[in-house]
Amino acid sequence: MAGLDDLYREIILDHYRTPRNRGELESPPAFESRGHNPLCGDEITLYLMLDGEGEDAVVSDIKIGGQGCSISQSSASMMTQAVMGKPVPEVRGLIRKFKTLLGIEGIEEREGDAEIPLGDLEALQGVVKFPVRIKCAVLSWNTLAQALDQAAAAPS
Ligand code: ZN
Repeated sequence: MAGLDDLYREIILDHYRTPRNRGELESPPAFESRGHNPLCGDEITLYLMLDGEGEDAVVSDIKIGGQGCSISQSSASMMTQAVMGKPVPEVRGLIRKFKTLLGIEGIEEREGDAEIPLGDLEALQGVVKFPVRIKCAVLSWNTLAQALDQAAAAPS
């Protein structure tokens, strides 16, 4: 993508060419959710495995299936790395923080969000310059939020 910083473009292409945590998990016990971005044709199927209950649960495994453009796929790959092993409240914080990075309005930051590291995800901040690609970058994150909502609503 022209216009993105070279280093950032390298990170995005690396995750696109060698996506982390591709595959599927048996569902149940994993929570499965699907996301679709009709503007670009991106499709994400996300499998989320939690260990523990409610707010004490941690992400014990996450896998991504589907297909789409380099931004949607690399964002999903980076997301899986960022949330693996993390407690659910921190994952929700990371979702808020990432959406704020992309310039999405109406996200209410909470105490502690500032300390959550973004790591490679900062590579995607250049996407802000391409408004149509923001939906690509955020697709997997909305799909993850859906899976977390499913988990929160599931009978224990
Ligand atoms: Zn896309």
